[in-house]
Amino acid sequence: MKVILAQHLGFCYGVKRAIKLARDSASPTVRTCTLGPIIHNPQMVEKLESEGVGMVQNLTEMTAGTIIIRSHGVGPQVYQEAEHSGLQVVDATCPHVKKAQLSAHALAEEGYAVVIVGEKQHPEVKSIFEWSGHMATVIESTEEASAIQPCGKLGIVVQTTFSGEKFKEIVAALIDKSSDIKIARTICTATDQRQAAAMDLAGSVDLMLVIGGKNSANTTRLAQLCSEKCLTHHIETAEELQDCWFNEVEKVGITAGASTPDWIIKEVYKKVQDMESLLQEESMREIKEHEIIKGTIVLVTRDEAFIDIGYKAEVAIPRAELAYPVPESATDVVSTGDEIQVYVVSMGGEKGVVLSKVKADKFAAWNDITAIVDRKETVQAEVTQVVKGGLVAMVLGVRGFIPASQLELHFIKDLSVYVGQTLEVLPIELDIKKQRLVLSRRTLLEAARDKKQAELFESLSVNQILRGTVKRLVDYGAFIDIGGMDGLAHISDLSWERVKHPSDVLTVGDEVEVLVKNFDPTTKRISLSLKDTLRDPWLEKADHYKEGTCVKGTIVKLADFGAFMELEPKFDGLIHLGELSEKRISKAEEVVHVGDEVTVKILQIDKKAKRVALSLLKAEEDAEKAEYNQYMAGQEEKTATLGDALGDVFQKLQ
Ligand code: SF4
Repeated sequence: MKVILAQHLGFCYGVKRAIKLARDSASPTVRTCTLGPIIHNPQMVEKLESEGVGMVQNLTEMTAGTIIIRSHGVGPQVYQEAEHSGLQVVDATCPHVKKAQLSAHALAEEGYAVVIVGEKQHPEVKSIFEWSGHMATVIESTEEASAIQPCGKLGIVVQTTFSGEKFKEIVAALIDKSSDIKIARTICTATDQRQAAAMDLAGSVDLMLVIGGKNSANTTRLAQLCSEKCLTHHIETAEELQDCWFNEVEKVGITAGASTPDWIIKEVYKKVQDMESLLQEESMREIKEHEIIKGTIVLVTRDEAFIDIGYKAEVAIPRAELAYPVPESATDVVSTGDEIQVYVVSMGGEKGVVLSKVKADKFAAWNDITAIVDRKETVQAEVTQVVKGGLVAMVLGVRGFIPASQLELHFIKDLSVYVGQTLEVLPIELDIKKQRLVLSRRTLLEAARDKKQAELFESLSVNQILRGTVKRLVDYGAFIDIGGMDGLAHISDLSWERVKHPSDVLTVGDEVEVLVKNFDPTTKRISLSLKDTLRDPWLEKADHYKEGTCVKGTIVKLADFGAFMELEPKFDGLIHLGELSEKRISKAEEVVHVGDEVTVKILQIDKKAKRVALSLLKAEEDAEKAEYNQYMAGQEEKTATLGDALGDVFQKLQ
């Protein structure tokens, strides 16, 4: 609340002079009194009395001493009576009033019909009337002016504190009353100045306080003028001020009548200011401990920032309470003019008001995190340290905990590698009362993995060939990552050749081609094969042989049902017992032995069953047949030769 004093207020020149004269006249040995109250202010009268200047209403009350004529003045007979009574007279009549008195006297002496414009009961007007020789007519309205009878010479005198505007109107009403009008303009400019200043101020404030005696005409007039502009209270002292007047008032103006002492104005001014403080304290009481309020930074030093929170004084916030970690300088965190939120740690105690931006930020962060949790959103967490069972990570300035089990999809032995990293995490547990915030990265990884897996299964098809990376080797096979998910290649599917252990053919990290043998989105199992990406080498070999042809080979194994013969390494065929000999035999060894090199006929190549049926018997028969054919062919040649030889003979015989 702003308190503004009017530019012109309080004692005028005439009143100041009268008070000074009265005080100067005070004597411990001589009775000194004013004739009537020296000014229209009971407090001032009382004060003067305490200083040795009493008051009498009538000269008859004094037989000796000093009588002080007040600023309003008195008639000439009072001076005569005082002199007659042997009283010393101190004339404190205001020079302006004196001028009006003498003007009225002179006009009357010159034969003018004197009209005094002013309040009939005002002491000043009464004194002027007396100086006119009791011949004047007192008027204070245009109606009264109109009622004045025309006369030869009209002299007009006006009360010093009369309204200038109103005086003009009255003069206008008198102007036709005489052809010889003389006007003594005795209005005091102090009154006009005070009224103008009061009006000006009243037009710019919410409330005006007009200080002065309730019996003071000029103060009452001031109050009336001000009330035309804004809410106005006319008071005599500060004790009359009421708290309720100042509710929702931002600007208060103060003016005072000409008879209002400075000390009363000061008392009122101070009490209004105190009231402002009281109001502030009342509003301060609305600031409760443990709540978050807004304030404006008004000053920042290295060690602290001063904030205006609407309290009676700015409050200092040490830099340790401005930010966490503690900044090197408060200027690193806030600047003058910043509007920030602070937490009210304490409103009293040894340290007075204690505020914390760190705590306000933390509470704000908790609220933000609560909203984030409600929206099921992720946050960025900066990992600061490793603790038992997990990591500490800061989220929006709040300390959160990431359990080791919530960090990755797999077990992590050394958590320290995460310190200093910023991880995207999901708040999974929040308890503001316990200040507990649990975060999970694994949840996000699982969700991402599930999404990727769903997309992968969507794109998979049996016999599809993909590229993959060997992730892990186990006794029964190899786990191969085919783009977000591991499939298993059984040991039997690693190679066409027999594999004792997957490490015989693969190393973790190898990039390989795999064929999707099978998959199940429900159980999330994918069966892979490396060997099916290559042609079966048995078939490759089989392509080199034809059914019906005879080939050589070595007996490598005997069985109850026949003998196995190796056509070439890792390409065997079976000679069934019935294909070993024409004779009925019960064991193969009756015909062949391991290591024997024999020629057999390929009866059948079953590529599906990967079996080759051989026949020793058929090969022998073919050989015999070939031999016979060869023999027969030789015989034909001999026959032809005999014919050729006997040809000429036959021709001669013909
Ligand atoms: S208001 Fe003017 S006329 Fe009246 S006492 Fe003061 S100075 Fe004198």
